[in-house]
Amino acid sequence: MTQSVAPAEQRSGKGPGEVVLEVRNLTKHFPVGTLFRPKAVKALNDVSFTISRGQVVALVGESGSGKSTTARLISRLMPPTSGEIILRGKNVLKTEPHRPSLSYRKEVQMIFQDPFGSLNPVHTISHHLERPLEIHKMVTDKNLLGRVHELLETVGLTPPDEAARKYPYQMSGGQRQRVAIARALAVEPEIILADEPISMLDVSIRMGVLNLMEQLKEERGIGFLYITHDLASARYIGDRTMVMYTGYLVEAAESRELMEQPAHPYTQMLMAAVPNPEGGLIKKKAEARGEIPSLTDMPPGCPFAARCPKVMDICKRSMPGRTQLSQTSDHWVRCHLYGQGEEKQATTTAQL
Ligand code: SF4
Repeated sequence: MTQSVAPAEQRSGKGPGEVVLEVRNLTKHFPVGTLFRPKAVKALNDVSFTISRGQVVALVGESGSGKSTTARLISRLMPPTSGEIILRGKNVLKTEPHRPSLSYRKEVQMIFQDPFGSLNPVHTISHHLERPLEIHKMVTDKNLLGRVHELLETVGLTPPDEAARKYPYQMSGGQRQRVAIARALAVEPEIILADEPISMLDVSIRMGVLNLMEQLKEERGIGFLYITHDLASARYIGDRTMVMYTGYLVEAAESRELMEQPAHPYTQMLMAAVPNPEGGLIKKKAEARGEIPSLTDMPPGCPFAARCPKVMDICKRSMPGRTQLSQTSDHWVRCHLYGQGEEKQATTTAQL
């Protein structure tokens, strides 16, 4: 994604609506090791954010940074170690602690990275769309096929009767991802968790899927968590962008502000790696060095310290808290270069 386009907030011309989903201090530690030498993979730590009606929140970071774990926890494919998930004011981990209710599964849908793997090769496209409509009793039997055709038209798969009869292998990657989006739309969700929905698609069809998401946000007020490792697509579609590193959110702001004024050295490093189609390769302003720390053996202090060109003594001793840089755009950063923040001593594995 290197197209030069106006960012999402300029195109839409309007801000987000009321908060639909709130995540508070979400943490996931996977126990590993032995009875006598317990350890934990600290996949996600103290993650908090909100998604409003008609808002696309982009979550950006390297592979293994915890992005997909965030989506899997919110979709409740696995339980968090601690934290809260609040949907429309309801703390769902308290009200439905063991498994998500049918209503939660209807309101929060997920689109996976691999559009082929997420569809059953022995069933037709029509079957994939009928199942959620039947399970959630969205239409009567009489109207089932008509609704399937409507969904296929919504995602641009026409003629719909022809598309409905096909099997997944008879479609391109982009068409299959559109089917996955149609399946999510079938139950009229409030939130869609899109986990790298375009990363396995050809560059030529990525824009079509992003534009479809944009249209659904505008016309239906759906809130998206858009997970990607691609800052350019995050800026294109994201109203707000959050940057994740080793399971911590390290910076968040309105997408345009974050891209134009990245504050965290890691965000600056990511920005320096984005090719600019108009100006050629951008001269790297922030070079990363060192290694990503092991998630089972995190050193104390800032997790980016081993790679940070601006590391200071304090960075190796204490974990920076969030420092608010702008109230108007809710731009915050987790870095000792900016004020005091709310310092925290990093937990050690032994404390788990
Ligand atoms: Fe770099 Fe220190 Fe900021 Fe971490 S806290 S990003 S090591 S300057």
